[in-house]
Amino acid sequence: MAKPVLLTVDDDAEVLRAVERDLRHRYAERYRVLRSDSGAAALEALKGLKKRGDSVALLLVDQRMPQMNGVEFLGQAMQIFPNAKRVLLTAYADTDAAIHAINDARIHHYLLKPWDPPEEHLYPVLDDLLGDWQGSFQPTFEGVRVLGTRWSPHSYTFRDFLARNQAPYQWVDVETADKVAEVRRLVDAVGAVASSLPMVVFPDGSSLANPSIGQLAEKLGLRSRPEVAFYDFVIVGAGPAGLAAAVYGASEGLKTLMIEMEAPGGQAGMSSRIENYLGFPSGLSGGDLARRAVTQARRFGVEILAPQQVTGVRVEGASRMVKLAEGADIGCKALLIATGVSYRKLNVAGAERLQGCGIYYGSAMTEANSCEGEDVYIVGGANSAGQAAMYFSKYARSVVMLVRGDSLSTYMSQYLIDQIKKTPNIHVETHSQVVEAHGDTHLEAISILCSSSGETTTVPTNMLSIFIGAEPNTDWLSGVVERDERGFILTGPDLVRDGKQPAGWPLARNPYWPETSVPGIFAAGDVRHGSVKRVASGVGEGSIAVQFTHQYLSEV
Ligand SMILES: Cc1cc2nc3c(=O)[nH]c(=O)nc-3n(C[C@H](O)[C@H](O)[C@H](O)COP(=O)(O)OP(=O)(O)OC[C@H]3O[C@@H](n4cnc5c(N)ncnc54)[C@H](O)[C@@H]3O)c2cc1C
Repeated sequence: MAKPVLLTVDDDAEVLRAVERDLRHRYAERYRVLRSDSGAAALEALKGLKKRGDSVALLLVDQRMPQMNGVEFLGQAMQIFPNAKRVLLTAYADTDAAIHAINDARIHHYLLKPWDPPEEHLYPVLDDLLGDWQGSFQPTFEGVRVLGTRWSPHSYTFRDFLARNQAPYQWVDVETADKVAEVRRLVDAVGAVASSLPMVVFPDGSSLANPSIGQLAEKLGLRSRPEVAFYDFVIVGAGPAGLAAAVYGASEGLKTLMIEMEAPGGQAGMSSRIENYLGFPSGLSGGDLARRAVTQARRFGVEILAPQQVTGVRVEGASRMVKLAEGADIGCKALLIATGVSYRKLNVAGAERLQGCGIYYGSAMTEANSCEGEDVYIVGGANSAGQAAMYFSKYARSVVMLVRGDSLSTYMSQYLIDQIKKTPNIHVETHSQVVEAHGDTHLEAISILCSSSGETTTVPTNMLSIFIGAEPNTDWLSGVVERDERGFILTGPDLVRDGKQPAGWPLARNPYWPETSVPGIFAAGDVRHGSVKRVASGVGEGSIAVQFTHQYLSEV
């Protein structure tokens, strides 16, 4: 495959040569560096690249150019290569224009001239952006291919699993084989028949017919067995809280194991765009955040088992033992439970039967492409529903948000409410709830009850995305640590009632702030009673838990 392109554009020949030289110096091994001396010439070059099926990773463009300035050029270039990272090169005097461009022209970054030394002012920014681009770049024919049918829940599970584990894949809907010659050729070549679907074809030409997630994970080289039997620190759950704890724990010398039953990133990994996380002014997707955090954790030597579920915990003297779904036990000195929450299910007729074939929980980003030109319905009125509505609005003909209350404002951040108001194909229907889902092999329609008029209407749709709150799945901790009536784990001050320590607490001191009713077992993030359900607070709690882990370890 041809190397992806980095294109730089500047009308000043000297500056253009200097940028090209610096780009080549660092990136020539992995990318092709091209240059243009005007916006018009650069657009022509991009059209040529598109025709040849090339990929463009970065556009680095001067703002002040005659005829077409940098922002205007990037606006047009985006139509040709929407995924290329867009960076504006500006003089100090143009800083304000550049900041506006982040919002208006969706520029990813602006750099000030001069950028010397590039090691300090140019490469760190570009490394980061290119890392991001690589994370979502899907080489068409070199990754894993999943063959299946759109309405198969099993196919959806695979696509979701691969996407959340950052494994680039190509989805091939075999039902299009009659219309798309390339699909027909592939189906015939791998011998895909109804009973072998979904089928996963690997870059080395091997394939698995209708495999389990475990078989798929093993083939992809994901690790599900620990290297050793005992660790300093074990973390259950690789959402923001678990990942932060892993980074801090391992970087401070604890031999750390993190166990995740689905894919690193947790709920945050399902978010199409997190806009309120500090340090990312133009937002980032949950997938990006997860990928960065996993890289950081691995760099500090964290061992990650995924997918692997923890099904039990017990105390043996000074050891905390966790039981894996596969049956093995792992011991540790200190344990952190960061298992977050999972979606509450919609309890109406038809919903369970049609889950995965038209009804999805979470943002179901993998399904957005199939909604091109369709009418999508979203249940829920909080931030996660709002983000999904914004995401689907780029693909669907219309997005209808069904909200039980009388407005969005109760649970949604103002920035999202503003974005939704400005998006013409999103409609909000208040006082509305789904009462039935219809369809045989896949979702075909839903019935909606309007609580103010008492009327029920049935509307056709193939896509219902549900965000109706979440609950902690902590029954496996029953009888081990104290939980509240909804299953959230009690920690620190919440365990001490009328000055009395929790039953069975063996120490003179009270439980530390993130410590559960068992010394050395901590809880952080959404699963903790009273926690703020946000990415940043999960990250904060995970980091703080490590501090208390050290204190605990110094006592035993
Ligand atoms: C679609 C969506 C959009 C969101 N957008 C934003 C936003 O823009 N800004 C914001 O601040 N917050 C947002 N949130 C909320 C935020 O993502 C959560 O508050 C945050 O992810 C909580 O982190 P956590 O680590 O506590 O738990 P989680 O993210 O829930 O992670 C817990 C992990 O533990 C794993 N796990 C559970 N049980 C087990 C077990 N027994 N064994 C092994 N692993 C287990 C789960 O698979 C999961 O990966 C959003 C949430 C969703 C769903």
